[in-house]
Amino acid sequence: MHTGGNCVPSIVTQNLQNDERNTLRIGDKINEQKRAWYQANIERERAHHRVRERQRWQENPEKLRVQARIRNAHNPEPNRKRVKAWQLAHPERFREQLRVHKQKRRARKKGNGGSWTAKEWATLKRQYGYYCVGCWKTERELQALGRKLVPDHIVALDRGGLNIVENLQPLCHGKGGCNNRKGNKYVDFVIS
Ligand SMILES: [Zn+2]
Repeated sequence: MHTGGNCVPSIVTQNLQNDERNTLRIGDKINEQKRAWYQANIERERAHHRVRERQRWQENPEKLRVQARIRNAHNPEPNRKRVKAWQLAHPERFREQLRVHKQKRRARKKGNGGSWTAKEWATLKRQYGYYCVGCWKTERELQALGRKLVPDHIVALDRGGLNIVENLQPLCHGKGGCNNRKGNKYVDFVIS
């Protein structure tokens, strides 16, 4: 917009600048008030948010589940923290969950069929030269990292894999271990 007269008296410029400064200050004040209001009502706001989220999940569970899965794959840390916090806050229920999980796993092992002995597992490890087939670190190196070699089901039990030695591979387990990252995905580390 051009209002004509491009010679602006310096006093006006100065006022403008003052105004600008005032506006900034007012803006800061408003932001401060908003922040304070939000802090004061944080519980109510969070409750609203939870209700809205629950509605969204009820309306479109499939889509949101996929979105959450993608988000978690890119940035697993927040979810991990949330799960840990929940576990700490509900020790009883967490123990119960673990119990159920172990029970299910035992049942699956039995249901899928097959078995192997400690001796077979020892032989398998020897055949692989005591290496983890995920990161090719030796058992000794892994020990230094606080991990150990564990038998991993190449085809996971909950995907119908058999509990036989032919379906096992040595993977490292522990913080940052290959087995901890794998979950129930199908990864034959030796072939792939
Ligand atoms: Zn490994």
